[in-house]
Amino acid sequence: MTIKDNLLEILRELPDGVELEVAGKTRKPEEMLEAVETGATIIGENYVQEAERARALIGDRVKWHLIGHLQSNKVKKAVRLFDMIESVDSVEIAREIDKRCRQVGKFMPVLVEVNIGREPQKSGVLPERVEELVRAISAFPNVRVMGLMTIEPRSADHEGSRCYFKQMKNIFERIKNLALPNVEMRYLSMGMSDSYRLAIEQGANLVRIGSKIFRD
Ligand SMILES: *Cc1c(COP(=O)(O)O)cnc(C)c1O
Repeated sequence: MTIKDNLLEILRELPDGVELEVAGKTRKPEEMLEAVETGATIIGENYVQEAERARALIGDRVKWHLIGHLQSNKVKKAVRLFDMIESVDSVEIAREIDKRCRQVGKFMPVLVEVNIGREPQKSGVLPERVEELVRAISAFPNVRVMGLMTIEPRSADHEGSRCYFKQMKNIFERIKNLALPNVEMRYLSMGMSDSYRLAIEQGANLVRIGSKIFRD
């Protein structure tokens, strides 16, 4: 199977209203270009530097999302490179994004990353802190919360993952129902190669898939 075959198979399978994000981690820009030429419209990058290289080849015919952890010293570059930042997990980083956006007259859609499995080594805000963080970010004029993102625990079995996705959907709906100003709960980004079907069943509308597309 080629990148093209893998991607077309996934695209055919996704229900209406679910968007695919191609996770480009460690892949060569040429491989990502093949995905784009096959019909990928969103690329998720973990690292600012990798995105810079890939974007130099592919350009702005696709949307670029940051899905990896963002350090404050990389925000300036990230603001220039990305169309969405999915990994916001603190007021401080949101404030820095807002500041850098204001300097260049840009406006950044963001997702709040949730550490749904409460894993100590992982980034993301704890489930009980999501609302507080969304409320705080809503005060920043050049940043707009557009939903939530999570990376579920790797160790979880099928039922475990389902349970995490369900919790995410509950948090998502609860915050959506608050109808906060400057918050538009549109995207629930969850599910990867081994879990996207389950995530979609539980309400994901943005899935991030890497290895299932790029493996041969
Ligand atoms: C690598 C990665 C993915 C894709 O994972 P696969 O298992 O390769 O599909 C999705 N989201 C994030 C944040 C990642 O780092």
